[in-house]
Amino acid sequence: MELKEIAKDVYACLQEDRGIGWNNAGFVNLGGGLAIDTFYDLNRTKQMIELYKTISPTPARRLVNTHHNGDHTWGNQLFQDSEIIAHRLCAEEIEKEKKRNLPGLFQKWIQNPEVFPPGMKQFVVGLSQFDFSGIELTLPNHLIEDRFDLELDGYPCQLIYVGPAHTSGDIIVYLPEHKVIFAGDIVFWKCTPIGWEGTHDKWIEALDLVLSFEPEVIVSGHGPLCGVNEVKELRAYFEFVYSEAKRFFNEGLDPLEASKKINLGPYTDWTEPERLFFNVNRAYREFRNVEPWDAPFNALDLFSKCNELRIHWDGI
Ligand SMILES: [Zn+2]
Repeated sequence: MELKEIAKDVYACLQEDRGIGWNNAGFVNLGGGLAIDTFYDLNRTKQMIELYKTISPTPARRLVNTHHNGDHTWGNQLFQDSEIIAHRLCAEEIEKEKKRNLPGLFQKWIQNPEVFPPGMKQFVVGLSQFDFSGIELTLPNHLIEDRFDLELDGYPCQLIYVGPAHTSGDIIVYLPEHKVIFAGDIVFWKCTPIGWEGTHDKWIEALDLVLSFEPEVIVSGHGPLCGVNEVKELRAYFEFVYSEAKRFFNEGLDPLEASKKINLGPYTDWTEPERLFFNVNRAYREFRNVEPWDAPFNALDLFSKCNELRIHWDGI
């Protein structure tokens, strides 16, 4: 975990991407402190807060959740005295996870990964790098819609809703005078993106918005810091995968067969390239034009298919 000053008073809290759940966060030491996202478990979020204390001894006045995924929100309870800002749809998803006690379920799973079939087992082994004990899912207490503008000691900070793209409630945090964007999981760099709820068009629109601001530094949700050229590359990945998926959809192949036929070329080096299946499967949902963008999905089945794709590649 590394805290890096990327502009005056603006810090990225970076974790090396080691697979599912290894995200980045950030801290703006203005306006009483603005934290952007938490980490997946309490231990890692506590470490993050300790790093922030080296910059500012008082707890952050505000926390922004860029979206609902647990790696970005399951440390919320350590910000209980802060204003926790998120999009309304992000809060709805956290509420669903709270009802299912998802952290408790994950904690049970990681005790015994051996009982799961291969694809699922790989996912659970990935989760076992974290400790989900003690997590009480904590909902945001300030919900926003399309946009919310903050002024931090005279500096503008814009929270902009760009979903449904990676998930239903995606927000980016833009600091125009610092030329910094905290992109949440709208931007993955050197690791393969996963789309949950949302649409291809909205994700492209979100990336175009990021590019239009011409930021100097972009804090990706996963992977290293990047800039506009890397976002252009991510955009090209999505366009490539979408058009290839369309071609194979028209040929009548199922999403797994289509994924096996796609030659990822330069994107093979991104971590977990088998997440391609997620993106093809989501494209297929759009091509069928029957299910809504927030249609329920079976994540475990999707991870199993990713594993099948990985086994297929390994066997070539
Ligand atoms: Zn994430």
